Amino acid sequence: MRGVDLKYRLVRDEGRTTGTLLALGSLVRGAVLWFVTALAPAVTLAAPAGSSPAVAPQSIEPPAPRRVTVPDHRPLVVVRALGHVGPAHLRHACRTILEHYPVRCEIGPARDVMTARAAWNDRRRQVDGRALLDRLFVDRTDALVEVDLTPLDIYEGTRPYVFGLASLSDRVAVVSLARVTDDFRRPDVTSANRIRKLVLHEVGHALGLGHHDDPACVMRQDGTPESLDFAPDDLCDGCRRELLRRLDLLAHPGQAYLDRVRGHLVRGEIEDARFHATRALHRFPTDAGLAIALGRAFLDAAVLNDAISLFELALHRNPDLPEAHAYRAIALDARGRPEDLARAREHFARAVELDPRWASSARGRQASALARAQGPHRSSR
Ligand SMILES: [Zn+2]
Ligand SMILES: [Zn+2]
Repeated sequence: MRGVDLKYRLVRDEGRTTGTLLALGSLVRGAVLWFVTALAPAVTLAAPAGSSPAVAPQSIEPPAPRRVTVPDHRPLVVVRALGHVGPAHLRHACRTILEHYPVRCEIGPARDVMTARAAWNDRRRQVDGRALLDRLFVDRTDALVEVDLTPLDIYEGTRPYVFGLASLSDRVAVVSLARVTDDFRRPDVTSANRIRKLVLHEVGHALGLGHHDDPACVMRQDGTPESLDFAPDDLCDGCRRELLRRLDLLAHPGQAYLDRVRGHLVRGEIEDARFHATRALHRFPTDAGLAIALGRAFLDAAVLNDAISLFELALHRNPDLPEAHAYRAIALDARGRPEDLARAREHFARAVELDPRWASSARGRQASALARAQGPHRSSR
């Protein structure tokens, strides 16, 4: 289930306008940052050379810059140090990300090197990369993607070392600088060059891209620092199109909360999932689409009472959402209490009334079959 994106329909204004289908997946402190753009820069008006002195000079005030606030919905990537990493490396990573991907980037608070202790393999004198990603997820930032730079040497499974690792579902990535420092025999090759490719590669994963072993793509796999030197430092056209498509789906500001809720549910950490779901609902108090997406996350994890409550909340926010009715029907049926089946039937009938496509959709067929079933039946929990 990890890494599976959840599609949901975002309904923006009381159900009259349906928005885009969004794919939702792990979480962020969903601060929507606003940036100020000066649309009309001040200009200096100079008299052209040779203009007639007979014309009385006019006092022309340059227009004051008009400040307009524009919501910036680009997803946020946060770069952090895990252990001692120079600020130049962090700034370099952020700059690289901003130059290549249409996201925002910030440098987050540094992590103490002891954060990695739980993932330390004393026999190998290395850090277990998968265990480290799991540890970083526990208190990750609320950005859509968190990428940590670290001087620690990392291995994964049977590989003796890796340059970096990322979780496509948790959207947490780590880049190890242990093996990419400057090669003094080749002064033309800088660590900055290697770090740029690694950061783009791992952030690409965290945004949902898989490997693409094309010599012209930064998503190719490189096994040695030397092969890294010959790697391209950008995505191929195909991967770029895929990235833009994914970023479009991930642009909802609640996406990061949803990712985090799903991450905890996958780990069986129901209380943590509830905590972050509550934060999301509090932060976006009118967003019915987000409530549905959270409900589906709990439904997928068979945490049915929470799912049912979330679909109910979505309907409270907007009573005419077919998805909320349909999924509430499915969740009620799955719970299977004596009184649930009749309510499931009502909700499914309402969903079809609002959007007849539910009658023929796969989940709709499931729900209608359930709604036709007679008598109490067993819960799937
Ligand atoms: Zn990779
Ligand atoms: Zn590619």
